[in-house]
Amino acid sequence: MNESQSTTIEQSVRKIRSVLRPMYPDGEVEGFIRIIFRHVLHYEPVDILLRKDTVLPDFIVDKINKVVSELQERRPIQYVFNEARFHGHDFYVDESVLIPRPETEELVDMIVDENRSSDLSVLDAGTGSGCIAVSLALALKFAEITAIDISEAAIGVARMNAERLKAKVGFLCQDMLDMPAVSGKYDIIVSNPPYVAEGEKKEMDGNVLDYEPGAALFVPDDDPLRYYRALSDYGKSALKYGGRLYFEINSRFPDEMKALLEGDGYENVELRRDMQGLWRFVRACKRKE
Ligand code: GLN
Repeated sequence: MNESQSTTIEQSVRKIRSVLRPMYPDGEVEGFIRIIFRHVLHYEPVDILLRKDTVLPDFIVDKINKVVSELQERRPIQYVFNEARFHGHDFYVDESVLIPRPETEELVDMIVDENRSSDLSVLDAGTGSGCIAVSLALALKFAEITAIDISEAAIGVARMNAERLKAKVGFLCQDMLDMPAVSGKYDIIVSNPPYVAEGEKKEMDGNVLDYEPGAALFVPDDDPLRYYRALSDYGKSALKYGGRLYFEINSRFPDEMKALLEGDGYENVELRRDMQGLWRFVRACKRKE
């Protein structure tokens, strides 16, 4: 047998480690390995060990090499395989949408925990991949969910996710800064709008800056709350009495967020921290008439 021409699972794993460990933390590399073998061979993590002596066909070795070289370019693995896990579901993602973040799962949990009644009417502004809207549609009872995004491409991705996950969501290509007036329509308006100030770019990872859509992330330094101001104003009429706003926010501006929402007449404005202890969410209630 000619060893040099055949690659076993074990050898392949070693090679992936040696190429990626200089660039990524060890734990992340092990995560990559599990994801690669799941996608390329439909292996569970235990199979990687049990079948370590299995020889890989050349086309599989080529596939793995291609993935590893994309990871060397710091392309996020969710884009490499067009898949991101969020709130227990697998979402299709590509470079036209942000990769769903774990913090945003906390936002979904918060809404599900606090809104147990059925038939809620919900708006998700700036839906991106649709992760919030679709997860809410699957978790809330008989909710009517509308999701908007300014990006045509994002709406295409979000719609595909709703179809694949069998979630009932209505989609619209719409700028949240320019919403048509409606009155007393929604119980909940949720948003994770762009909130990273341009000036914060230098603290961000290259893989975010190079691959994720800037339009979904950044706001001008001189107006970092622009999307919140627009949605807060919109909510004054678009929410039902007693309706609620739920936002993911930039942890640098909790006080400004609270002042903005209280200034617009919202009650019980509550800031909340994320799992890392950062001010990451705000909830506000429209007065009950
Ligand atoms: N949490 C994201 C990040 O830090 C930003 C999300 C957003 O701008 N809405 O990359």
